[in-house]
Amino acid sequence: MKRQTLAIHTRFQSKDAYNAISMPVYHTAAYEFDNAADMADAFCGRTTAPDYSRVTNPTVTYFENKVKALTGAAEVIAVSSGMAAISNTLLCIASMGTNIVASRHVFGNTFALISGTLSRFGVKAHLCDLTDYEAVARAVDEESCCIYLEIITNPQMEVADLRQLARIAHEHHIPLIADTTLIPFTEFDAHALGVDIEIVSSTKYLSGGATSIGGLIIDYGTCPVFGKRMRTEMLLNLGAYMTPHVAYMHTLGLETLDARYRIQAANALELARKMRSLPGICRVNYVGLEDNPYHRLAREQFGPTAGAMVTIDLADRDACFRFIDHLQLIVRATNLFDNKTLAIHPASTIFGPFTDSQRESMDVLDTTIRLSIGLEDVDDLLEDIRQALG
Ligand SMILES: *Cc1c(COP(=O)(O)O)cnc(C)c1O
Repeated sequence: MKRQTLAIHTRFQSKDAYNAISMPVYHTAAYEFDNAADMADAFCGRTTAPDYSRVTNPTVTYFENKVKALTGAAEVIAVSSGMAAISNTLLCIASMGTNIVASRHVFGNTFALISGTLSRFGVKAHLCDLTDYEAVARAVDEESCCIYLEIITNPQMEVADLRQLARIAHEHHIPLIADTTLIPFTEFDAHALGVDIEIVSSTKYLSGGATSIGGLIIDYGTCPVFGKRMRTEMLLNLGAYMTPHVAYMHTLGLETLDARYRIQAANALELARKMRSLPGICRVNYVGLEDNPYHRLAREQFGPTAGAMVTIDLADRDACFRFIDHLQLIVRATNLFDNKTLAIHPASTIFGPFTDSQRESMDVLDTTIRLSIGLEDVDDLLEDIRQALG
């Protein structure tokens, strides 16, 4: 079956007691066993019968199975947030004395996790420009445990060549881990480009309109022991498994993902093109624009769409604040890929707690506004942008 059919028709892992056609929300902490031997088998991993919802839950398993069918992954683990997906993955792979090779241009909390929290446990950060493949090759050493990147950085919109990074990682027998949140995994095959472990904040496109927070760890089975260790160690000991209610909503979101994403990506492209001619906007940054420096590489790797995040630069910080304050339709909020279009000034919010020099090294500018484009009519969005600029 094609992806969109699979997204709708993945079969339940076992027949439902009432023939429900929507996977029910199994709001239960634990599961009863018929006898002690079955119980022992489940706890020791000899059967897949659920025992406790910190580790497995039928509603969450169904969501994981849908993602597995769509990606062809060996193992999919759903967790409580995108950050939980990142922290659980890195805690599974890293240990004291190892280092993580990553870009300075990663999501703010990811940067803080790698350079701050993990450093307290003796894990080092080797930060470099991931589009400079010689610099990456120099940054990887015997203690490196992975190369970590985002497929389109936020808000800089940088795109690295995944095959080049995979080649360097695999020469050193370490995994390439990619946060693919900005382009849905239904659009392109990350594994074919060399990615070993894919991370997604399902809060974004998947949740179906910003309904709830969740994350996915998509393991292609190429990193020895990773999947098993995630299930048998990290889920049990760190306790970040997704809740059944969130899994239910993200399953519904996944069913309509393709339809929503197509409109959002088309809106983003049309708006990006039209915003270029608006007075007051100094720059529109979107990899979907033909003259964007990463356009060709992004197209080759991710297919014809370029996501629904666009940034614009205005004259200075004051102009950005005035613009945001005057928006009437576009919502002043963080988050990405809500059904509604959202606007935020990253430098003073997401990156507000960092120092000026940290922001400078991350190329987070005071002049940039990030827009997450929703499902509204483009003409209405353009009109709001036009009046706010005025
Ligand atoms: C939002 C986001 C995250 C974090 O996800 P949460 O679900 O908010 O924890 C990580 N990476 C990227 C690229 C994101 O946009």
